[in-house]
Amino acid sequence: MLIVMEKGATDDQVKAVTERIRLLGFRPHPIPGAERLAIGITGNHAPIDPAEFDLLPGVQEAIRVTRPYKLVSREVKAGDSVIEVGGVPIGGRRIVLIAGPCAVESEAQAMAIAEKVAAAGADLFRGGAFKPRTSPYAFQGLGLPALKILAKVRERFGLPVVTEAVDEESMAQVEEYADAAQIGARNMQNFSLLKRAGRARIPIFLKRGMSATLEEFLMAAEYIVSEGNYKVFLCERGVRTFADHTRNTLDLAIVPAVKSLSHLPILVDPSHGTGRRDKVLPLTRAAIAVGADGVMVEVHHDPSKALSDGPQAILPEMFETLAREVAAVAALVGRSHG
Ligand code: PEP
Ligand code: MN
Repeated sequence: MLIVMEKGATDDQVKAVTERIRLLGFRPHPIPGAERLAIGITGNHAPIDPAEFDLLPGVQEAIRVTRPYKLVSREVKAGDSVIEVGGVPIGGRRIVLIAGPCAVESEAQAMAIAEKVAAAGADLFRGGAFKPRTSPYAFQGLGLPALKILAKVRERFGLPVVTEAVDEESMAQVEEYADAAQIGARNMQNFSLLKRAGRARIPIFLKRGMSATLEEFLMAAEYIVSEGNYKVFLCERGVRTFADHTRNTLDLAIVPAVKSLSHLPILVDPSHGTGRRDKVLPLTRAAIAVGADGVMVEVHHDPSKALSDGPQAILPEMFETLAREVAAVAALVGRSHG
């Protein structure tokens, strides 16, 4: 249920509605719009009678939300959400580029890559501190020391940083050091982690599970938002198919599909989406053309020595080309970068 307030509704009228929602045992979610405030209701397991609210002063109408996801849907908020990450707006007219290594391997490695991507126009820096690896014997990430390195990168280059949290414990650490926390494909339906992310102080970058449907993806975002963290931005990173010419099949069609159903920003990750360095640039162009709010790409200055995902890491010079081409394609679709 969504309560749409009248244009000039007073603070007291809004308060009376939120109190009524709480009295009924549900949770109110005020959603400011361009014209008027709306209040989403969650926590009800059966439809609510609109008559509970229709006659309260300041209420314009009470509307049933038909989609299974409520707070992330366009039914509840028609305009695009813009999420601020360390002062960088994500989801507005301007395209964002997130770049950095798969994993932080050392301070020297992170600094060398950050210097290059910052100069080439990256908006945010990425680098894993906690790596979810298929093999328990593979490099698992440096953990806390990597978070400290990321904080130094932010300080030196002025780039906000995003890094993955793999469980509730690492979420607490990521929250302390980073500007946004990533929830990776393997954890998209880790519901206790999603609930914890919903109580985090920082925005959440939610990647699509490798076999998740659009509805499952948006429901995962709904978990976070329903706990009170409205700062969520999404990422398409490829799904598993029979195709073996790429690591995953990048499902670019999900970008316009998400855009029509949800107000949340969506980025594309052509690095994990293809697994191949030479495919990152063409799929980046396509992602921007199809309406993505940005891309996240893995960059390494010495990919043959990378401790994870070397084959898909582009070189810093390739990132420079990528940033230039993103600006060109963005201009064609009424967006901008640089
Ligand atoms: C990553 O971004 O490094 C990562 C592990 O991505 P995904 O969860 O999409 O595999
Ligand atoms: Mn990676």
